[in-house]
Amino acid sequence: MMENDKQLTIIQVSFGLGSGRTGTELGSDSLEQAGLLRQIRKTEYGLAGVHKVKCPEIGVFPTNQAKDAVVKHFPEVMEMSRLVAKHVSQAALQGTFPLVLGGDHSVTIGTLAGLTTRFVNLGVIYFDAHVGLNTEDTSPMGNMNRMTLAAALGKSEFKLTDIPGTNALIKRENVVIIGVRDVEQSERDLVLSEGITCFTMHEIDRMGIEKVMEKALQTAGNGTDGIHLSFDIDSLDPLEAPGVSMSVPGGLTYREAHFAFELLATSGLITSMDVVELNPTLDESRRTARLAVGLIASILGKRIL
Ligand code: MG
Repeated sequence: MMENDKQLTIIQVSFGLGSGRTGTELGSDSLEQAGLLRQIRKTEYGLAGVHKVKCPEIGVFPTNQAKDAVVKHFPEVMEMSRLVAKHVSQAALQGTFPLVLGGDHSVTIGTLAGLTTRFVNLGVIYFDAHVGLNTEDTSPMGNMNRMTLAAALGKSEFKLTDIPGTNALIKRENVVIIGVRDVEQSERDLVLSEGITCFTMHEIDRMGIEKVMEKALQTAGNGTDGIHLSFDIDSLDPLEAPGVSMSVPGGLTYREAHFAFELLATSGLITSMDVVELNPTLDESRRTARLAVGLIASILGKRIL
C-alpha cells in the first residue's frame, strides 16, 4: 500500500472554561467515540500523531488578577492557549495538517497563535452563529469563547501576540465569518468599522452557500500562505445539531455545511482546522458528534463516490 504523503496531527483539548456552561470540555472525547479515527482512515490523510493537551484545573491559578475581574478564567485560558499554541506550532512546522478538537471556542486563540509560527500571513474562515468580537470592555458575561476573533485581530486588551512564540496578529482583511445570527451591538460596530467580511444567515439565504464560499476563499486566500478553518458547531441549525452550549435558531443546514466543506476541500487551500463548542451533555445520542465527524471527513477530502 502506498504511504500517505498527506499527514494530519490531532490535538485534543479538553477545555471548557472559556464557556459559561460546562460540557464542552467533553467535546473531543465525544468526537472520538463517534468514530472520528475510523472516518479519518477513509480519507487521503495519514495520522502523524494524537496529542492530548492537559489543561489547567480550576483553582490552580490565582483569580485576583486584574483581567479576571471582568473576564472569567483569564489565567486558565492564557495557560491553555500557551499549551495549545505549542502543540499546534509543532504539528504545523512538521508539515502536517493540525486538526484541533475542542473544547470551547477560546481554544481557537491558542490554535491561531501556534499556526502563526508556520503561516505568517494566515487567512481565517470562521463558522459561527456568533462573531467572537467581545472584548474585556464590552463582554456582557465575561466568557472568553466569545472574544476569540477580537484577540486574534488585536482588538481586545488581551491579544494573540501575548501568547509566547506568536509571530503575528491575524489581519482583518483575511478573516471571513460565516453563519452569523447572534451579534452584540459592540460587535456589530466592530464588524462595520473594521470592514470584516461577515456572511450572516441573511447573505447565505440570499446568495446561496456556493457563492458565499467562493467569496470566502477569495478573501481568506488573498495574499495568505495558509487558511485556517474554525468550525463552531453552533453555526449549524440546532434542529440538526442540538449538542451545543449556545444554540441559536436558524442556522446552516447539514447539507449547506457539507457542501461548503466539500468546496473548501476541493480548493486545496485549507491548511488546518479546529472543531469547537460541541457539548455532549446537551447532545441527543451523539447525533451532533456524528454529524461533526462527517463534516470533518469531508474537509479532509472524503467523497461520496
Ligand atoms: Mg458560537
